[in-house]
Amino acid sequence: MERKIPTLDLKRNYTRIKEEIQVALNEVLESQYFILGPSVKNFEDEVSSYLEGAQAISCASGSDALYLALMALGIKEGDEVITTPYSFFATVSCITRLGAKPVFVDIDPCTYNFDLDQVREKLTPKTRAIIAVHLFGQMVPLEGIVEDLEERGIVIVEDAAQAFGSWRKVSNDIKRAGAWGTMGCYSFFPTKNLGGYGDGGMVVSSNEALASRVKTLRVHGAGTTYIHEEVGLNSRLDALQAAVLRVKLRHLDEWNEERRLVADRYKTLFAEYDLLDKIQPPYELDGNYHIYHQYVPRVMQKREELSEYLATKGITTRVYYPLCLHLQQCFAFLNHKEGDFPVAEGLSRESLALPIFPELTEDEQVYIASAIRDFFRQK
Ligand SMILES: *Cc1c(COP(=O)(O)O)cnc(C)c1O
Repeated sequence: MERKIPTLDLKRNYTRIKEEIQVALNEVLESQYFILGPSVKNFEDEVSSYLEGAQAISCASGSDALYLALMALGIKEGDEVITTPYSFFATVSCITRLGAKPVFVDIDPCTYNFDLDQVREKLTPKTRAIIAVHLFGQMVPLEGIVEDLEERGIVIVEDAAQAFGSWRKVSNDIKRAGAWGTMGCYSFFPTKNLGGYGDGGMVVSSNEALASRVKTLRVHGAGTTYIHEEVGLNSRLDALQAAVLRVKLRHLDEWNEERRLVADRYKTLFAEYDLLDKIQPPYELDGNYHIYHQYVPRVMQKREELSEYLATKGITTRVYYPLCLHLQQCFAFLNHKEGDFPVAEGLSRESLALPIFPELTEDEQVYIASAIRDFFRQK
């Protein structure tokens, strides 16, 4: 049986919404309004109401969103920003690009997100912000640190690139990923849960002054056309992308729910096949509505061999992330070494992302789980 199961199959998703997408793109083409304009404005308003109020300012990528957010906060040389060593590169490059210092803390072995007790230990008078990454769609329980940070005037920036649509229940409140901290950042890279057909990103904030500063910074720091208050970027969301994203936003909650079903099925299958001592399903923190941007179990032994074996069966897997950020060559000036963040480093040796997307079928999951069982039987 020749099967091919990619980690993500965007074509299947496109098939579901093809007509809607074509209508939406056509509307932009007929208008010939490509930069900002109604398509972008409508998308921003729709996100804003999805988030129940925070202002939404779209931009060219998730990386730019993080950079714009820190720029708007005035992060600069001499400042410290605490974050995780286990994330995509852009979480940290936004800090160093502004001359500030990234301060890493290790991650929680269950949630894969940074450990808030360690964040608390690293607060200094130089700390200006923390960047909380909701990795793989699992939210950081920020309620544990919000007050401490507020007292000290330290800002929370959420890197919600992998968490559009995640939420967390705190007492009787629903905290939505990206709209909890002072600023939140999203990416619309095609593989994200809310992904465009090209690059895109967004900053959200309920703080009027910060939101308006991001708006100015994305158009070269010009509050009024050709009148520049400061030096910003050229970083806007394309109107065609906004049209695609408006269609997809309407379906997002349904797709996230389908991803959760996929995650659930994996867990059931691994238990049924007696694999739980070999492969540890990702954990869902109590109170979290995890949206499984990636499904990343730990493979306690023989990860590389398992991955190669699955490839021979037509199953693609990925490693997020093979090298922690504190060990990247471009951050060598921070003087970290192997062993500094053992939990994150351990995860980089054990994590294996399995295929997950809303359209993945039960039949395919049975095939994947059986292949994993066969691999460990032979060992
Ligand atoms: C994807 C991603 C980004 C960057 O987004 P781009 O749109 O690719 O620039 C930032 N942080 C995290 C955690 C991401 O997954």
